[in-house]
Amino acid sequence: MLLFLVWLPCQLAAHGLRPLVWVIDPGHGGHDHGTEGRLCMEKDVNLRISQLLVKLLAKHKPGIRVIVTRDKDEFVSLEARCRKANRANADLFLSIHVNSAPNKLLMGTESFYARRGATSNAVLEGARSRYIEKSELLALLLQKNYYDAGRQADRGIKATKLFVTANVMMPSVLTEVGFMSNREDEIYLASETGQQEIARMLFNALMEYYTTTQGKTYKKTLKTLRHSNGTRSGVDALRLEVKERTAKRKDKEQPAKKEEPVVQNPPKASDNPEKKDTLATADNRAQQPLPADAQESSTAIPVFSIQLFSNSTEMKPDDKRLKGVSPVTFVKVGDTFKCLYQGTTDYQQAKEQLKKVREKFPDAFIVAYLGEKPISTAEALELVRRAR
Ligand SMILES: [Zn+2]
Repeated sequence: MLLFLVWLPCQLAAHGLRPLVWVIDPGHGGHDHGTEGRLCMEKDVNLRISQLLVKLLAKHKPGIRVIVTRDKDEFVSLEARCRKANRANADLFLSIHVNSAPNKLLMGTESFYARRGATSNAVLEGARSRYIEKSELLALLLQKNYYDAGRQADRGIKATKLFVTANVMMPSVLTEVGFMSNREDEIYLASETGQQEIARMLFNALMEYYTTTQGKTYKKTLKTLRHSNGTRSGVDALRLEVKERTAKRKDKEQPAKKEEPVVQNPPKASDNPEKKDTLATADNRAQQPLPADAQESSTAIPVFSIQLFSNSTEMKPDDKRLKGVSPVTFVKVGDTFKCLYQGTTDYQQAKEQLKKVREKFPDAFIVAYLGEKPISTAEALELVRRAR
């Protein structure tokens, strides 16, 4: 009975009986505009694409429960977004953003997923490690679908440590659907056609993700995608696109006016990519500041975990003394190894986990860590309160 209580949700999910839960996260909102263009603001583009994507999912995959972190123009903190996804015990987290860079020639799409060590926290890392491959898979599928649909300048995938991807306990990707700082990208992003097309690309990528992960062939697909030449490297593509566009623009008019929202500030001649004579290269791109959203995840976020017991040695995951409880991480403090179960930035979730695991380990209790350093739960809760 005990085993049943703990493992039932996992078993159901494994057999496809529990509906899949996907979280769609339109970045920014409310007073947080995200990156601002001449035609539109990032928060509005993110929301519109998210709404279109949710519609497609509801129509074609009604069996999947879709949760959004916001469905209107309101501010939602990064912590609250992660909390919502973690509480729903979601199976996927997709954050939608628009990029921006000082170099106005930069354009196209890129997708970020949390790399190993993204949280610099052994506890959270242990719990998160099993989602890394699926996150990479989703990032690759997104880039593949942008490319297949003819989106320009695929900038590829990057393993990094963005807050939302590092603090959710599920496969997660933050995708940048274009550059607001690039004139051509912005016109496309601001248009209804562009938004619909992007939503369709995201949807197609999610459907491929669904098929591959449900069919359990994802490791093979991941390998193929990693070695695929299906997408051109970002820099080569950028060079080519700029060349093509410059040639084309000479005898082409601006896209249809009715698709554009009101132009708040007329484009300045100095911002016109044609006037620039330099192209981004791998070298100078590396020196540029990271795009707006690529700020790294803060390490000042405490993580709550459940300490099951401490021991003089580390144990293997199949050790009988763990009573089948997984995932656990061993953290060395002085001469002893603390056996920690799970890891979450959400105290409520830790309390729920504690309740479950106490049936097997009655002496288990909640501990808090800041990076590698154990701190009191009171101190941790105070930090969480201040971070809001
Ligand atoms: Zn953003």
